[in-house]
Amino acid sequence: MTRKVERIARTRRWATIVAASGTIALAAWVLLPAPWGWAALAILAGGLAVAHPQMIAPPGVAVLTYHSVSPDPAWLPWSREIAVHPSTFERHLRTLRRMGVTIVGSRALTERRSAGAPTPANTVALHFDDGYLDNWRCAAPLLRAHDAPATFFASLDFVDPARGVRDDGPLDGYMTWDELAALEADPRFEVEPHGVAHARVPTGERVVGVLDAANWRTHAWMQWDATPGSKHDWYRRALPEAVPVGSTIPASGLALAEPALRDGVRESVDTLHERIARDLGACRATFERELGITPRLFCWPENKLCAQGRTIARALGYRATTGGRGRNTADEPADTISRIHVNDRALGFRWLAAEGVYLRAAVRLMQGNHYWYLLLAPMQLTRRAIFVWRRRFGRDFA
Ligand SMILES: [Zn+2]
Repeated sequence: MTRKVERIARTRRWATIVAASGTIALAAWVLLPAPWGWAALAILAGGLAVAHPQMIAPPGVAVLTYHSVSPDPAWLPWSREIAVHPSTFERHLRTLRRMGVTIVGSRALTERRSAGAPTPANTVALHFDDGYLDNWRCAAPLLRAHDAPATFFASLDFVDPARGVRDDGPLDGYMTWDELAALEADPRFEVEPHGVAHARVPTGERVVGVLDAANWRTHAWMQWDATPGSKHDWYRRALPEAVPVGSTIPASGLALAEPALRDGVRESVDTLHERIARDLGACRATFERELGITPRLFCWPENKLCAQGRTIARALGYRATTGGRGRNTADEPADTISRIHVNDRALGFRWLAAEGVYLRAAVRLMQGNHYWYLLLAPMQLTRRAIFVWRRRFGRDFA
């Protein structure tokens, strides 16, 4: 069962019991003579007690996924969806500490789960996808200050081919192998692969738009797909190179999850599987060469995989991969990591108190306490409403 299905089922059963007992209590209050009216309170309390177990599920582990952590992420066309300001990130770390959470590394967590050890209560793991330079410059120092373990997932083609580590200068771009190696050398941190090219592929005949000077960065997957090898500085171009302005934008899907449609021919499922195996194999070989480690975890680009993805990854020695839709409970497969994406601007604008409350609710819900959904759901609705309002009227907040 996915966590979404579980959440809806549990909340619905809880609400039904509470509503029924509330109705009976109200009727008792209105209809019964004075001293008996107080029985209404007992009926309501009884209803809440009966409904309570619906909201408490077996414990899970919250795996929180971040991307960019930067005060200035504007170079990323999708920064609004994935970038978190360092002040928000620090508030998250402080919130986790106040919650008494134990932050664990994902390799250790996977080994524990594989060995069938009970899921430790109140445990959280932190992930950082895409290998942005700001992870090294902004996130890692905050993680060290809070003694918090974390796993960084890098895509091979986006690793900056320069050598050395950069402790000042601009924050745009991606980490070098030396920066990734310095993270891996810190016992708190782990570096694992996020695919070779982070690519999307064309998947349908449908045309979804036309590339122009304003939108080509948003559809960067087309440049990535058509550019073999390094593309760490793709965003610095004034105009796209591999696929020119004026080209049509086809429907697309994740390269490691869906068969591609090229020149009207759909790739066979076997070819897709071979492509996935090549990608995961290349990650393994490059990590062994550049970092001297054999990768144990794999993060699917955009968290999506095909039905055979996990089998292929296991055959290549990966112990677990992302893309799960559950809560990492003891009865879920140990080779599947379910993650939640962490946003900034929990209410549609940045307010540190709300960022902390939102994170607390998201973690507790993932850990199994569904009462927090009663707070999280209206927060998510507010965020969505503000984003829609902003799109329509063009007003911006912090
Ligand atoms: Zn990614």
